[in-house]
Amino acid sequence: MCRRECCWLAFCNYASMNFLNNPPKGWLPPFCPNGNCKYHKPMQVEWRYKNFGFFRRMTDNRRIQRYLCLSCKRTFSTQSFSTTYWQKRPDLDSKVLTMVANGMCNRQIARQLAVDPVTINRKIERIGRHCLLFLQRMMADARPADEIVFDGFETFELSQYFPFHHNVAIDKNTDFILHFNDSELRRKGRMTNAQKRRRSELEQEFGRPDPRAIEKSIAELLSVVIKGQEPVKVYTDDHTQYRKPIQSYGSQIEHTVTPGKRHRDKDNMLWAINLFDRFFRHSNANHVRETLAWSKRRQSSTDRLAIFAVWRNYMNGRRQKDRRSPTPAMARNIIDRKLNGADVLSERVFVGHVDLPESWKKYYRRDVTTRALPRNRRHRLTYAE
Ligand SMILES: [Zn+2]
Repeated sequence: MCRRECCWLAFCNYASMNFLNNPPKGWLPPFCPNGNCKYHKPMQVEWRYKNFGFFRRMTDNRRIQRYLCLSCKRTFSTQSFSTTYWQKRPDLDSKVLTMVANGMCNRQIARQLAVDPVTINRKIERIGRHCLLFLQRMMADARPADEIVFDGFETFELSQYFPFHHNVAIDKNTDFILHFNDSELRRKGRMTNAQKRRRSELEQEFGRPDPRAIEKSIAELLSVVIKGQEPVKVYTDDHTQYRKPIQSYGSQIEHTVTPGKRHRDKDNMLWAINLFDRFFRHSNANHVRETLAWSKRRQSSTDRLAIFAVWRNYMNGRRQKDRRSPTPAMARNIIDRKLNGADVLSERVFVGHVDLPESWKKYYRRDVTTRALPRNRRHRLTYAE
């Protein structure tokens, strides 16, 4: 009986199909999909289940096998192991993923695919969650990076009175996106008197962001990318809030500072992160200057960043002008060919099987709140996780 580790790579050999649309012969459920069952962890030989009839999937009228877990007595099906479980339009996911990473805003995608904009919003949330799990799962066996560049990508949520940073760490030698989190900022820079008044009104009503938000987020970011490593080289600009968290690692980090004002060409030590900034802004409609499609919540911006990170690391070559250029993940020997949308979405990754960093747990549960919004929709589901 198949008792495989829920290892997408080993099992599917990144087959370019969604295996649950056409399950391979002899496929058997590797674990109970119920997160509260004691047989949820894979590879437990004593787990018992039995076949429990079929149902007809409404989207394509295929017959889907059901099962009953003899431990928790919950039923499930082959579909429970798919990224498309409970979806009415599973055919759109792969298209939405590539459209998000190629500069289309939510409503443009909805118009192009002739569906309701709310469908697209929900799909991006869901694909974003899958991408967080996918990124973390794939990193589990990857060697850690020993030359890391990080910086904050400045943008805003809701209005320009609520700026924030996506703090992003990149492997200097392969352009691989290693980790990201966010920090709220206070609006700064040149403002008219009316804008200053408006800022203080808003701050009175909704409070001010933590002035040490960047320092705290960088500490979390370093704890993820440095974890358990020998001496690491870290390259940053001269932002004052980077100093303290870096110094706390003592001689474990060899820190090189490049002034932010230095010309940003290929010879700049921060080239890898500068390239990310340019490419991310170019590829995501919500970050284009003077756009109408800015993010209303930084949670949504993070969903898109997770999708972009998967696309950048696994699906797209490092250099745009060279079609044979390897992806950052190929350069790090994590995979040996470019993946496509169907590969990335080929198998559901269960949140209980992945040890997410603290910031990503918040993103997964949609716990990041936009302070000026009266209602922030979160992710709370009983069965679907
Ligand atoms: Zn069970």
